[in-house]
Amino acid sequence: MQVWKFGGTSVGKPERMHSIRNLITEDGGRKIVVLSALSGTTNSLISIGESLKANNDAEAIEKIDALYAHYETFIKELYKTQEGYTKGKTIIDNEFNFIRSLVNIKPFTLKQEKEIVAEGELLSTQMFEAYLQEEGVSSALLPALDFMLIDADNEPVLSFTEEKLTAMLSQLSDKQIFITQGFICRNPRGEVDNLKRGGSDYTASLVGGAIRAEEIQIWTDIDGMHNNDPRIVKRTFPVRELTFEEAAELAYFGAKILHPSTITPAKMRGVPVRLKNTMEPNAYGTLIADKTTDSEIKAIAAKDGITAIYIHSTRMLNAYGFMRKVFEVFENFKTPVDMITTSEVSIAVTIDNAENLDKITAVLGQFAELEEHDRNQSIICIVGNFMADKAGIALKVMEAMRDIPIRMIAYGASEHNISLLVDTKDKNNALNALNEGLFTF
Ligand code: ADP
Ligand code: ASP
Ligand code: MG
Repeated sequence: MQVWKFGGTSVGKPERMHSIRNLITEDGGRKIVVLSALSGTTNSLISIGESLKANNDAEAIEKIDALYAHYETFIKELYKTQEGYTKGKTIIDNEFNFIRSLVNIKPFTLKQEKEIVAEGELLSTQMFEAYLQEEGVSSALLPALDFMLIDADNEPVLSFTEEKLTAMLSQLSDKQIFITQGFICRNPRGEVDNLKRGGSDYTASLVGGAIRAEEIQIWTDIDGMHNNDPRIVKRTFPVRELTFEEAAELAYFGAKILHPSTITPAKMRGVPVRLKNTMEPNAYGTLIADKTTDSEIKAIAAKDGITAIYIHSTRMLNAYGFMRKVFEVFENFKTPVDMITTSEVSIAVTIDNAENLDKITAVLGQFAELEEHDRNQSIICIVGNFMADKAGIALKVMEAMRDIPIRMIAYGASEHNISLLVDTKDKNNALNALNEGLFTF
C-alpha cells in the first residue's frame, strides 16, 4: 500500500481534482490519499479567526461569505451530475454552517481558532470523496480526527495512529482508495488541533510510517526538491536523489516543499519518500531513501526568524560544566538550539522559537555574561556529501560568500551539512552567490 499526499495547489481547482482522480486510479494500486485544503483556504480561515478574535464579527462574516462563494463556484465545476452537485452543496453548507456558528461563541479562544482552520481539510476531502463516488471509484473517507493524535508536547503519537488505522483498514478491505485529511489531529484534551502550517506532508509521513507503506509520495506544484530555493534563486534544478538525512536537514532548514518534520517517521520506518509534480506527473521528481548516488554538494536551504544569543563564561579559562549549564536552560524552556559555535570562553547559539527568550536570558544572566542578541537572522544550510572531497569545499563556500558578512559558521558536525548564519537582509544575495559558486549548470 502507498500513501499519496496532494498539496493545496494540487487540489486548488476543479480540473486539478479531476486529474488527481486519474492519477490515483490509473496504476490500480491500493492507496491512502492525504489531501490539504484548497490553496488559499487555510490563510482565509486564519484571517476569519483573527477577525473573530478581534471581535470584528461583521468583517468575519464578510470573509466567510467570500470564501463560501468560492466553494459554491468550485462545486459547480467539480461535479458532472445533479446528484453529485447536491452532495457537494450539502457538504459545503454543513461545514460553513459550523464556521458561522463559531461567530456566536464568545470569547473566541484558541480552541475555536483551531476548529476553524481544520475546516479547510474537512471540506476538500469530503468534496473529493463525493466526486470519487460520482465517478464510481471504490473509495472511503478515513476521518483523520479518529487516528491522528498529538501529545502534551505537540508530538504526534505514532503508535496510536498505527493501532487505529490498522483497525479501520481491516474493516474496509473491499476498498481501493482511502481519502483522509492532512494537517489536522486531536490533542490530549480531545480537542481539534493541527500539525502546524504545511502539516499535511507530516500527516502523509506519519500515516506511511504507521502502516509501513511501500512508498510515500508527496505531490506538489514543482518537480521535486530543487538545489536551492526557487522563489529566490533563478537557476535551480531538481535533485534526483537524497538520503533521509539530507532531506531532513533541508526540510528543517527551510526548504518549504516539505514540512520540517516530514522525514522523521518515514526514516524511522524505512519508507522511501518520493516528491512528484502534479502538473507534470511524468517528471522524475526526487527520491528520498536510505542511499543515494554520490554528489558533492546537493542543495541549499535557508531558514528565517532566527535569533543568535552570545554567551560568555564569567569564570576564567578551563571552566568545565559551563556548556551543560547553558544547554540545561534551553532544555528547561523546551527551546531547541539549532546552531552552536564556541571559543574557549564563549558560546554562540541560535534558536528559532524566541517565545521564552526573555526568561532564558534572565536565567543565563545568573551565571554568564550576555551580549546583545541578534534577531532577524537566517541560517543557510548547505547539504551534501562532503567526505568525497573534503579539501576545497569550505574554500568554495567562503569564496562564494566573499562579499557577504557571516555571523556564524558550523562545519564538521556531520559529513553532510555546513551551516552559515547571516543577517536576513543578506539572505537572498547569499543564496544567489552560493548557487553560482557551488553548482555547475
Ligand atoms: P503544497 O501546497 O503542495 O504543500 P508548498 O507550497 O508547501 O506546496 O511547497 C511547494 C513549494 O515549495 C514550491 O512551489 C516552491 O516554491 C517551494 N520551495 C522552496 N524551496 C524549495 C526547494 N528547495 N525545492 C522545491 N521547492 C521549494
Ligand atoms: N492546509 C494547511 C496549510 O496551509 C496544511 C497543508 O497545506 O499542508 O498550512
Ligand atoms: Mg506544503
